[in-house]
Amino acid sequence: MKVVEIFKSLQGEGYNAGREAVFIRFAGCNLNCEWCDTFWKEGKEMSIKEIVDACNNIWDDDNETKTKNVILTGGEPLIQDSLMDLINELQANQWKIYIEPKSKADGNTNAEKSNPETRENNT
Ligand code: SF4
Repeated sequence: MKVVEIFKSLQGEGYNAGREAVFIRFAGCNLNCEWCDTFWKEGKEMSIKEIVDACNNIWDDDNETKTKNVILTGGEPLIQDSLMDLINELQANQWKIYIEPKSKADGNTNAEKSNPETRENNT
């Protein structure tokens, strides 16, 4: 899976605004909007284990009862290969998972077809 960054922050919008969460930003987006200001071109290949380990290491576990929230974002997280395998592994590690899709994934889960290196108008 190609990941731009993994970081902990507060959810800034929606029902869960203000809640602490780990964000996984995936590379690649199949919409390629001209006005996009999200950095998703660069990324590095990470295994599912590496991603889950990074989330576990970033999370502040000083309160064991605190819900571990993870947000899958991008780019377009739904075009990532192995997304369901990652979700299953995150669930096995007691993560509560939220997904921020761009609502235009067409069933193409082959990230190669949305390879950010082929993006012509990336800024
Ligand atoms: S992340 Fe994707 S859907 Fe969102 S603005 Fe950028 S190109 Fe468009």
